[in-house]
Amino acid sequence: MKSINDTILKRLAADIDPAHLIENCPMSRYTTFRAGGNAALLIQPDCMVELFSAVNILGREKVPYMIMGNGSNLLFKDEGYDGVVIRIGEGMDRVRVEGNVIFAEPGIKLSQLSKVAAGNSLTGLEFACGIPGSLGGAVYMNAGAYGGEMKDVVLSTSSLRRNSMVKDRGKDQLEFGYRTSVFQKSDEILIGVKLLLKPGHPYLIQETMQELNAKRNEKQPVNLPSAGSFFKRPEGHFAGQLIEEAGLKGLQVGGARVSPMHAGFIVNEGGATAQDILDLMKIVQETVREKSGVTLEPEVRIIG
Ligand SMILES: Cc1cc2nc3c(=O)[nH]c(=O)nc-3n(C[C@H](O)[C@H](O)[C@H](O)COP(=O)(O)OP(=O)(O)OC[C@H]3O[C@@H](n4cnc5c(N)ncnc54)[C@H](O)[C@@H]3O)c2cc1C
Repeated sequence: MKSINDTILKRLAADIDPAHLIENCPMSRYTTFRAGGNAALLIQPDCMVELFSAVNILGREKVPYMIMGNGSNLLFKDEGYDGVVIRIGEGMDRVRVEGNVIFAEPGIKLSQLSKVAAGNSLTGLEFACGIPGSLGGAVYMNAGAYGGEMKDVVLSTSSLRRNSMVKDRGKDQLEFGYRTSVFQKSDEILIGVKLLLKPGHPYLIQETMQELNAKRNEKQPVNLPSAGSFFKRPEGHFAGQLIEEAGLKGLQVGGARVSPMHAGFIVNEGGATAQDILDLMKIVQETVREKSGVTLEPEVRIIG
């Protein structure tokens, strides 16, 4: 891949632990779809200093880069991504609780964050306990489930601009909507999130989380690689229902399949290429459009 040369690598390795740099990195290992090609370089900063250095150097050298969290809403095309993927996870996942407010770094997983809330008798994040994303990815996507969304609990954010300046935003500036936020058009990196929850009863919070996880395990193919619901919910419809009514439940292309358990999921049955998944996506979109007149838009972000 052309975007990374030895000079850039040396500059990065001077400021960032070389163990946090992986050249020609197979993104199938870092995405829940377990499919797709390589990135020229993966950087896994374990602190703000490493993240700031990476952004500085890549900006100066004009190397294209993108951000990922837990990779649970991403599909890298088989040709890969000729640029740098900055993965925000372990090491950038600290969390602090003060009264009803949680201050958290973007790399914390939602499952962990909802446990922290429960452990502090705070209610409001139960909906998120089974979403396999990071906090940063969840705010970016305004992730939601079972009647809750990130917009209900986020109070403010701090993000890093490409010019290395930090921008703080209050709730009213976050432009949350269905699976969208201001970050989808701002190109910034979330570095801190403040959440406001309410005092609750620890037993009831735990009970709700257990119930929601049981529902998820019963209705969704959680044991197969996927990126969750593949399509956004079209207004007035449910994607899964439209796909099922179009007779596509169980349809397979290569290793990719419309889940027989939940038609809104495309799953990797083993060895699926990104192209298998994209071909299946196209068939689903075309057939649903023909049969119901509804256009399905992918919720999954396709890279490359
Ligand atoms: C089994 C399964 C079930 C799921 N269930 C749900 C569900 O119930 N509800 C739901 O909403 N989603 C669901 N998802 C989808 C996914 O988990 C969410 O969209 C999640 O919020 C993505 O977070 P992530 O950290 O994995 O983000 P990634 O997939 O890594 O990235 C998603 C987007 O966020 C951006 N991003 C990530 N971190 C940052 C950051 N720090 N700063 C700026 N941008 C960033 C990336 O650039 C990318 O565009 C499910 C997925 C799976 C596999």
